[in-house]
Amino acid sequence: MKYILPFILTIVVMISLSCSSGSNEQNKVDELIEEMTLDEKIGQLNQLMNFVDTIPVDPYFYNLLKEGKVGSVLNGYSPELIKEMQRISVEESRLGIPLLVGRDVIHGYRTIFPVNIGLAATFNPELVKECTAIAAKEARSEGINWTFAPMMDISRDPRWGRMVESCGEDPYLTEEMTKAYIQGFQGDDLSNTKNIAATAKHYVGYGAAIGGRDYNTTLIPEAELRNVYLRPFKVAVEENVASVMSGFNELNGIPTTGNQYTIKEILKGEWDFQGFVVSDWASIRNLTTHGYAKDSIDATLKAFTAGVDMDMSGMHYLDNLKILVENGSIDESLIDDAVRRILSIKCKLGLFENPYGNNENELLTEQALDIAKKAVIQSTVLLQNKNQVLPLSKDVGKVAVIGPLADAPHEQMGTWVFDGKSENSITPLNALKNYLGEEKISYAPGLKISRTRNREGFPEAIQAARNSDAVILFMGDESILTGEAHSRAELTLPGYQNQLIEEISKLNKPTVLVMMTGVIHMIEPYLEKVDALLYGWHPGTMGGPGYVDLLFGIESPSGKLPITFPRTEGQIPIYYNHNNTGHPADDESWVRMYDIPVKAWQTSLGNTNHYLDYGFEPLFEFGFGLSYADFKYSDIELSKKVISMNDSLVITAKIKNTGGCQAEDVAQLYIRDLVGRIVRPVKELKRFKRIKLNPGEEKIIEFILKPKDLEFHDGEKWIIEPGEFQVWIGNSSKASLMSGFELK
Ligand code: BGC
Repeated sequence: MKYILPFILTIVVMISLSCSSGSNEQNKVDELIEEMTLDEKIGQLNQLMNFVDTIPVDPYFYNLLKEGKVGSVLNGYSPELIKEMQRISVEESRLGIPLLVGRDVIHGYRTIFPVNIGLAATFNPELVKECTAIAAKEARSEGINWTFAPMMDISRDPRWGRMVESCGEDPYLTEEMTKAYIQGFQGDDLSNTKNIAATAKHYVGYGAAIGGRDYNTTLIPEAELRNVYLRPFKVAVEENVASVMSGFNELNGIPTTGNQYTIKEILKGEWDFQGFVVSDWASIRNLTTHGYAKDSIDATLKAFTAGVDMDMSGMHYLDNLKILVENGSIDESLIDDAVRRILSIKCKLGLFENPYGNNENELLTEQALDIAKKAVIQSTVLLQNKNQVLPLSKDVGKVAVIGPLADAPHEQMGTWVFDGKSENSITPLNALKNYLGEEKISYAPGLKISRTRNREGFPEAIQAARNSDAVILFMGDESILTGEAHSRAELTLPGYQNQLIEEISKLNKPTVLVMMTGVIHMIEPYLEKVDALLYGWHPGTMGGPGYVDLLFGIESPSGKLPITFPRTEGQIPIYYNHNNTGHPADDESWVRMYDIPVKAWQTSLGNTNHYLDYGFEPLFEFGFGLSYADFKYSDIELSKKVISMNDSLVITAKIKNTGGCQAEDVAQLYIRDLVGRIVRPVKELKRFKRIKLNPGEEKIIEFILKPKDLEFHDGEKWIIEPGEFQVWIGNSSKASLMSGFELK
């Protein structure tokens, strides 16, 4: 009887908890909460990683699962172990509550897509949605039901290693990508076993780490927090993102994992977020390290009362929450609220009916690989093409393939890849051999890895280049040199890659440099040494075939920079949507450090905010990217010159392909609010659209703006201020086709 009762109870609760319809979800969750002991409730708030990937499950972990003390597991397991842990929770714990199985499915699961900064460079949210839908379907087929993506930290400092996971510097582009990521992962219905729950992370401001050092302090004034950093998270909430992850960073003195203002007041209060908040890895424990909590009990109290519902890997909630409830510091109703949020997502995912996921076993399908290749093509940014050296002709003759990334199947997958497999990556070398025939290729990497600091491989590489008609260099970084805790102070290529480029350039062969990395490198010196430069990021599984289509003109490049490229590290942070100073720099000719005579008058080079040695212009601006075609933008027209608060404004312009091949371009619309209660940015991206045109073809692009699009936060409230606005259309943030309107 002792054993039968809990069993019967489990069955009864499980049956009554079938909540896939969603209609009675809340009642069912409430019923379950009624049944739960305090320990079981706290168990739901606990997320753990079982470091022992064996079956039978390691005894310590097995007992926790069986006692209902684990609400979620994360990362690092085989599908078999996931299934077994899920089985123990569902079949052997008293209430049979299924696990949320979380994983960093960041830019693909088995089919690996370009790293996220590359996906942002596509300026194609529809394509990103297709990528994340594939990732979701693949992951769910192996029992994963929750991803820790998308990361939507605005990042304006390329020294920050995690820029690679972001959508770059612009809040609007990040918002559009955020919607795409979430719609792709979550679909219309979480209970469909092709979908997984998403996480908006890292809440908030993590990308503003001082000096670009990961985990560093962030200082963000209220208006900037609202106008830049919080915006994508609000969009995520509007898209019904299942969870939000707090950050590692301290924001204006309060760590984001213990921040009542951002979590309790803004996220759960103002925005009425109904999902749950998970901490970052042990970030509750970090409250003590920050010096914000005196011990683990205090850290637990601060994180929980700030609104963090689930503790990732810290064991703090499991160890301390009961004590805090029993001593009256935390009301049990608050624990119930956190449990309710987590159980609701489990319900929405249909885990009570089907805890194990889909059995479609559709990994790396032809369709997935096609989309992955398309993403490589659209994410790669052509930054230089001297003498139209690209596209290469298939009859080019012999091609020297050089560089440590040319045949590095693991590295091309990029950071945060737990499940992609090297053997599925098609490297540039293999794709080129396949396209041109092995006999046409001379492969000599020159350097063993990106960090090799000797010239041993140079003679062979130089020889290969000398005997070839064209040279393609694949340079960059191993994936481990990018991502979390991998920030860099110097952004030149590591190892002897500079020297190798230098030596090859002396041969005066048509030379193309393909950058394979997640890092924004200081590439100005290479522009003189090579003819063409493609920024290809870490491209994922289909890197090779995607590059081949671009190199040989089967497709024209159409990626655009989601981040301003500085000329030198000293210009960082540099981003297009900055505010104006009272001394705006507008003349690059002031860069004359070596011309100033000794004892010259202090203002002899003007008083503008430029660097004496590097001016104010970046190397390449946000939104920039070349094509094999040429595009002409003309005839900007506005439906009205004066609009009222209820009007819409239709802005049109013509775009013509004046080049010789079919190609896509990304038309971009920027505005400037000329006078504001607080100073407004010199340009802000408001709309963009991909457009495909045949040679000679012309189309009209149409964008619609509403006064709501002109809204900003002044540090106290959101306002739409009447006044004059400038508007530009073009294919980068330097768009020059301009008009203006007034909002009355
Ligand atoms: C990262 C998160 C990630 C988590 C789980 C942390 O170190 O900051 O982005 O989702 O680990 O792997």
